[in-house]
Amino acid sequence: MSEQFDLIVIGSGPGGYVCALRAAQLGMRVGCVEKRATLGGTCLNIGCIPSKALLQSSEEYHHARHALADHGVLVDSVTFDLARMQARRGEVVTANVKGVEFLFRKSNVTWLKGSGRITAPGKVDVDGTVHETKSIVIATGSDSMPLPGVAVDEKRIVTSTGGLQLDKVPDHLVVIGGGYIGLELGSVWRRLGAEVTVVEFLDRIVPTMDGEVARAFQRILARQGLKFRLGTKVTAAHAGNDGVALALEPVKAGATEELTADVVLVSIGRRPFTQDLGLESVGVELDQRGRVRTDAHFATNVPGIYAIGDVIAGPMLAHKAEDEGVAVAEILAGQAGHVNYEVIPGVVYTWPEVASVGRTEEELKAAGADYKTGKFPFTANGRARAMGDTEGFVKLLADRTTDRLLGAHIIGPDAGTLIAELAVAMEFGASAEDVARTCHAHPTLEEAVKEAALAVDGRALHI
Ligand SMILES: Cc1cc2nc3c(=O)[nH]c(=O)nc-3n(C[C@H](O)[C@H](O)[C@H](O)COP(=O)(O)OP(=O)(O)OC[C@H]3O[C@@H](n4cnc5c(N)ncnc54)[C@H](O)[C@@H]3O)c2cc1C
Repeated sequence: MSEQFDLIVIGSGPGGYVCALRAAQLGMRVGCVEKRATLGGTCLNIGCIPSKALLQSSEEYHHARHALADHGVLVDSVTFDLARMQARRGEVVTANVKGVEFLFRKSNVTWLKGSGRITAPGKVDVDGTVHETKSIVIATGSDSMPLPGVAVDEKRIVTSTGGLQLDKVPDHLVVIGGGYIGLELGSVWRRLGAEVTVVEFLDRIVPTMDGEVARAFQRILARQGLKFRLGTKVTAAHAGNDGVALALEPVKAGATEELTADVVLVSIGRRPFTQDLGLESVGVELDQRGRVRTDAHFATNVPGIYAIGDVIAGPMLAHKAEDEGVAVAEILAGQAGHVNYEVIPGVVYTWPEVASVGRTEEELKAAGADYKTGKFPFTANGRARAMGDTEGFVKLLADRTTDRLLGAHIIGPDAGTLIAELAVAMEFGASAEDVARTCHAHPTLEEAVKEAALAVDGRALHI
């Protein structure tokens, strides 16, 4: 039996489910197709949420073991129960995915259970039933990028999905790829006792982040015990009874060497997921990287078909997908939905955290921009000292003539929370002076942001 919808969203990740909720708020009759047994997509099931649950649990253990004594809190024999940590991860995921189900019921969004395939503009086949709709939004997300020569079995050679579910701490974990997913999961297993080696093709980690921050980040992670093999590529992996043997080669010529691991995490990036959607037959164009091509209003080349989130261009981040979901729903309702791609924060949830918004110094240099820099270290922040968390700094970049903030980069305690102030400031077109003249509560980590803003004008007070 087919139903008449105003909008069918294919995929219930943060892009799709938020789009469905906003469209329902705007009075549309909405169906959301999801083939997974639970709603919430990569983010809630196998991405942001379970990784943050394990990061939190492993950090609690690490803190109890290594930091509490300095505070005079003596806990003898701190141990951990991995089965409980993993069970808790599952509970956190369940609470979140059930939450989306509740929101769908509350907003009258129909969950169309099964695999969606577009058979024609305005027609979506879900496991044999064709549903009719005025508009279609593709929000099918992404999956892990495979690495030639390295066959994933999700036990010994894992993607992030298997890497989140290990039931034993590996003696040696090799992480292929120095991006945020690899470093977050590497940190989890390092804190729980694994030897962790990160193998990265480029000569730096977190390639899209500010170079100075990335170098500081690598030094801090190295002090935590992570080992780095930069400028190195993995050309083959053989899983045997004694673990996995990896063949490594320097990117700039040199001898091949072997590295053995108990578990290998392949995290070299993610690719848009467009399989079995019927895109070819309805003529929806992809770009050269396999992403659905859209215009500034999220419209594909086929009238009535739109796309958002990881499956289109732009950073593969949950909040970017969510904002696009809201924007496209508003556009379909005749409003002026819009996403400001200049101000999309990015956060790595290690400890310390790393967060950024806007331009990096490298990008400004490449664009020939005339800019000023203001930096302030957490060693000079009273609250950071009280917390015992003084690693890192705030770095702000502002236009030399207008003082307008162009970029903000933080490595330090709660950087992911601190960056929000700067994202708001940049959204309002603030200058560094605006931030510097805003009264910041004392004693807070945010005062380091204010001091960095003062430092843009060479007048930081507490250093
Ligand atoms: C380990 C890990 C950690 C991450 N951590 C963060 C983080 O901390 N912060 C952050 O911002 N981002 C993080 N991300 C990235 C984030 O998960 C993605 O950017 C986000 O989920 C993209 O949302 P989306 O809605 O585009 O797609 P997805 O969340 O990928 O959802 C797509 C959904 O579509 C469904 N689907 C696909 N095809 C069909 C079909 N034909 N029919 C029906 N259903 C279909 C899939 O089953 C899936 O549920 C992380 C990712 C991973 C893997």
